[in-house]
Order: sequence, then structure tokens, then C-alpha cells
Amino acid sequence: MGKGKSKKKWKRRLLTVSLVVAGSLLFVAAGLFLAAGKQLGGSASGERFERMQASPNFRAGKARNPVPTDNSWGLAMMWETIKDYRGGHKTEPDEPPPIVRLTTEAFAEKPTSGLRVTWLGHSSVLVEIDEKVILFDPVFAERASMFSFMGPKRFHPTPISIDALPVLDAVVISHDHYDHLDYEAVVQLAPKTTAFYVPLGIGAHLEEWEIPAEKIVELDWWEEAEVGEIKLAACPARHFSGRSGFNDNKTLWASWAVAGPEHRLFFSGDTGLMDLFERVGELYGPFDVTFIKVGAYGRTWPDVHIDPKEAIVVNEMVRGQLMMPTHWGTFNLSYHGWTEPAERVIVAAERTDTRVVIPKVGQMFEPANPPAVERWWPEVPWRKASP
Ligand code: ZN
Ligand code: ZN
Repeated sequence: MGKGKSKKKWKRRLLTVSLVVAGSLLFVAAGLFLAAGKQLGGSASGERFERMQASPNFRAGKARNPVPTDNSWGLAMMWETIKDYRGGHKTEPDEPPPIVRLTTEAFAEKPTSGLRVTWLGHSSVLVEIDEKVILFDPVFAERASMFSFMGPKRFHPTPISIDALPVLDAVVISHDHYDHLDYEAVVQLAPKTTAFYVPLGIGAHLEEWEIPAEKIVELDWWEEAEVGEIKLAACPARHFSGRSGFNDNKTLWASWAVAGPEHRLFFSGDTGLMDLFERVGELYGPFDVTFIKVGAYGRTWPDVHIDPKEAIVVNEMVRGQLMMPTHWGTFNLSYHGWTEPAERVIVAAERTDTRVVIPKVGQMFEPANPPAVERWWPEVPWRKASP
């Protein structure tokens, strides 16, 4: 009898403790959800949802990679990643890296060649091409995160404020991860740009953020839009998406080709390697300049994030004539040394005779006359095992 009673007592205690733990977790989750607020964006419905349903690149409401990925996260993979994180690499600088500060006057004079590039840090690139101004993946937030108080914090200030930017013809987004799609920047840029060009599904976020529908141009892979005489084409990428933290793939990710009457460029977004980049090169190359992501690679997620050596391969595939590495130097999103992507780009470029340009953040240049590569970053030990 006594035994049965104490067993019941324990069961009841266990139940109470479980309920308290579950309740607290729910409370914290609800709090975080509220803190994230508008950052999370919206979900597709109506016409947009129907378009996604009809797209060959979506199945059951979720975007699919053109070449399947092997991201079967098992315990072994997790353990490997934890081991890498413990590798002791210097993933952040001690002091903000040097940048060039810009004002509106910097854009007063038009580029003599008709093509000028300004790197704003990470994947944010401003391009003046054939008399149009295009801004890719603008992130001005202090953190690449759904929260203002936690998440990867930028190493350096932005080189220019949104107010000081020139008038824009297009803001182009590659996918909806926080280091590429910055809610507050989008809201502030709305009066400044003629339109936003986004992969299919991302319009739902922009609508949630009250961007006027006529300013949203949503493209599926291989679809094109026109900005005056310039063609903007959404091309495939091999990645994933989501803003809730669950990577739910409810919006498409893309790379972009821009073809003007005089100049052409390619923007990789985030991607893994795939043969389809050859097709991009056939259709829209050769490119005067390519912006290819190099940082945030990891041994356990190679299918969705190319490393610097693969970035050089992508540049070759798309027929790039000059490559500028992006997606490094601003946020700590992986476990490699923060200067390692640039060092590995230099090694891989030398081996393949690839022309590269590695400007400081804010340093303007014309691809017709790019500055020589100069190591403006500090010397930080890096893994040279497989450059
Ligand atoms: Zn991403
Ligand atoms: Zn990214």
C-alpha cells in the first residue's frame, strides 16, 4: 500500500515539474516571439500562394533546391560541428576593421566607365550600372537577427546611412535570412527606391511590412524583370530560407543576373555549388563583375554554403571576369577565422588566374579599373589545410 502511495506521489511531482518546465518554456518562447514582432514577416496567401503552388520550385508550400542537399543533421554531424566550433579560431576582430565613410557627395559624379561598385559590408552591395542604381541585400541593422538584443553583431558601422544613399532604381533581395533581408532597412528604403525585386514568396514579408504592392516585383527562378533597359533575372541558388528560426523554406532563395546595354553583373546570394551556374553563364554571362559569397562555410554544411575555393569555381562557371568576395568581414556566422575567407580567396585566385578585387567596406571602385588586392585586414592565423 505504502509503496503505491509514494509512487503516485512521485508521479504527481514529476507531472507538476514537467508542467512548470513546459509552461516556462512556452512563456519564454511567447516572449521571444513577441520581441521578434514584425521581424518574422508574413505568410503567403491568395494569389501569391497559388503562384507558389503552381511553381515547379515549390512542393506542398515549401521551396525545394534544384539539386538536392544532404543536410541530414544527425548526432554525429552535430558533434562534428561542436568540435569545429571549439577549434579556437579568431572569428571576430578585436577592433572594428577599417572602413571608408561615405556621404551623398560620393555619388554626385557618375562613374566614367558606366559601372561602379560600393561594398556596404557583408552581402550589401550598391551598384551604379548603365545609369541605374541597384542595391543588393541591404542590411543596416546592428545585428543580423530577429532580436535587437541578441544575435550576430556587426564588426563595423555601416559606411553610409540610408538617408545619404542616392535615389535607387531597384533593391534586390537574394533570400529572407536576417543577414540579407533587414526589416527596418526595407521600411526605410521604400520611399527611396522605385521597387523591390525579390524571389517568390518574399513579397509576403514585404506586404506585412506595409510596402506598397506596386513596389514589389516577385520572381521565380529564370524569370526576368526590366529596370529601364536593364534586365534583372532571378536565377537558382542552392540554399534554404526562413525567419522563424526553423528554416521552413516557405520563400524562395535566388542568385541574380543583371544585364544592361553596356555592362553585366552576377550576385550569388547564399548558395552551395551546382552545375546550374554554367547555365547562368550561358544565358547572361560573361559578367564584368561577380559578387560571390565566400564566408560562413562549414565542414558540416557544404551543400548550402560554398567556401572561397568553390566561390572561384562559381565565378568560372558563370563566366565572371572579375570577382568580388562578399558575405565576410561584417558578421560572425561560422567558426572559421574572420579573415580566412579573404586569405583563401587570394590563394585560390592565384592558382586559377582569377581576377579578384577585395575592397575595404565603403571603398568605391570601377570594375574597368579595379584596385590591386591589398591586405587591409590584420594578420590572423588561419587553416591552410585545403585552400
Ligand atoms: Zn542564408
Ligand atoms: Zn547569408
